[in-house]
Amino acid sequence: MTCKNIVICGEPVLRKKARPIRDIGQEVADLVQGMVATMLEASGLGLAAPQVGQAVQAIVARGDSEPEAPVYRLLNPRLVTAEGEQVGREGCLSLPTLYGQVKRPERVIVRGVTPEGEETTLEAEGLLARALLHEIDHLRGVLFTDLAPEESLVWMVPDAEDEDGYRYEATTLREAQAAFDRLRARQDRTENGRDARPAGSQK
Ligand code: ZN
Repeated sequence: MTCKNIVICGEPVLRKKARPIRDIGQEVADLVQGMVATMLEASGLGLAAPQVGQAVQAIVARGDSEPEAPVYRLLNPRLVTAEGEQVGREGCLSLPTLYGQVKRPERVIVRGVTPEGEETTLEAEGLLARALLHEIDHLRGVLFTDLAPEESLVWMVPDAEDEDGYRYEATTLREAQAAFDRLRARQDRTENGRDARPAGSQK
């Protein structure tokens, strides 16, 4: 299974409204399989198709980062009901190492279609509910930084002195965006370097 490149905050695709998927076939199966592989490799709890550069309505999510935790795969997901409230720290693979406090419903019912074409209903609570809502937001071009109070934004910084191996450092939306712009510029240079190959070579 091939992992896909994760699109970093600042790319227009992350702000687009994703299209519903009408033809469920091999292409969609491959996309979703690649998304699962990418999420697992990045130790994420979820991933939406725009994060791999495709503005279509596909998400994958899990409620736990343990290897045996089930992974849910949904096309055209829609929120049916939401109740309760949870406030917790949230991050995103497209905004690496940035976290903020986001208020979400505690329990949700989400409906969608599996990559095999079956209608499905998913009841979720806690972290899985949070992950599903976060991924559904991606399909509308919404990022967690649109929902988190700015004063809650922090970087997770490696810290050998700390017993957990990291600490949190406060930041602002502007600083965070500038950091992601630099990250994207570095990635572009790497990709251009890779593209500088003899004519006729395959991408
Ligand atoms: Zn995300």
